[in-house]
Amino acid sequence: MVNIQKLVRPNILNLKAYSSARDEFKGEAKIYLDANENPISLSKSVNEVELNRYPDPHQNQLKEKLANIKGVSAENIFVGNGSDEAIDLLFRIFCEPNVDNVIICPPTYGMYEVSANINSAQIIEVPLTIDFELDIEKILDRQNQKTKLLFICSPNNPTGNSLSQIEKLIDKFNGIIVIDEAYIDFSTQQSFAQKVNDYPQVVVLQTLSKAWGLAATRVGLAFANDKIINWLNQVKPPYNVSLLNQQAAIETLDLKDAFEQQVHLILTQRTWLAEQFQNFKWVKKVYPSDANFLLIQVENAQDIYQFLLNNGIIIRNRHSILPNCIRITVGTKQENLKLIDTLKLF
Ligand SMILES: *Cc1c(COP(=O)(O)O)cnc(C)c1O
Repeated sequence: MVNIQKLVRPNILNLKAYSSARDEFKGEAKIYLDANENPISLSKSVNEVELNRYPDPHQNQLKEKLANIKGVSAENIFVGNGSDEAIDLLFRIFCEPNVDNVIICPPTYGMYEVSANINSAQIIEVPLTIDFELDIEKILDRQNQKTKLLFICSPNNPTGNSLSQIEKLIDKFNGIIVIDEAYIDFSTQQSFAQKVNDYPQVVVLQTLSKAWGLAATRVGLAFANDKIINWLNQVKPPYNVSLLNQQAAIETLDLKDAFEQQVHLILTQRTWLAEQFQNFKWVKKVYPSDANFLLIQVENAQDIYQFLLNNGIIIRNRHSILPNCIRITVGTKQENLKLIDTLKLF
């Protein structure tokens, strides 16, 4: 069993965290004169909410909703200003700058590398295998005493597949295994979020930016054992998720039926799009997708990209990381139809 405490930077272990006004008084009171807020709200939000008070620094109401939906307890949930905040915090908790390293498995989400560079963590690259699976042996072989984090994205962006070998790493890897499940709601794969108490070295990242349609609100989630959640909470800025964003998330999480319908629609459209692309003679391969996008290898990615751009349709050219591959997000039925009709003219 990995000793998590030993992986944490000494300055974080010794940190005396900021104590906010709302940490020091948590109950209900008649008059609040403790946080230097304006007693009057000059304007209100679209839902007529007053905006003069600081939001709940621990997002308790939101966490209760999430706990219900995800089947985990609230003490195993961290809410960040996007998953990107959680990624950055993990570096700051575990990686001593210019000393420690992390393993990433390209081609994958670009933020792991950027965040490593921002935090002066050395990067060890262990590429995915030819069929986009984890190279378990090489990961275990390349880890060393200074390896603190391993980033696994499943379903993976931009390849779209779920990684099937993750469990084999647990207990064998010496550091924290970060499993980014941004696309899990589109996947047939089981989440690791419910297993964080069995696997204390695992941190699961999810987001409300994709299937929940809340990218504008920047609500990212981390699921982990309560020790890691505590460190995340100590290192985060006290009021990291705004009142407006917490409220939007709380309201949207009630729309479970609409959410499921929406996911179903995207999955139906993903299948339709994949079939349509198979018919184009310039398509070399439509990769299987467990996410809300398709990775497609074509004869010339730049030509397709430019042609669609000229027609007002923007896709992602991934040629720089996967030769002649494009990544296309599944849109509405009308958008997808327009995409295919346009491509018939290519
Ligand atoms: C979109 C995406 C996220 C989401 O990031 P947020 O900051 O929560 O919007 C995280 N990880 C991956 C792999 C993604 O593709």
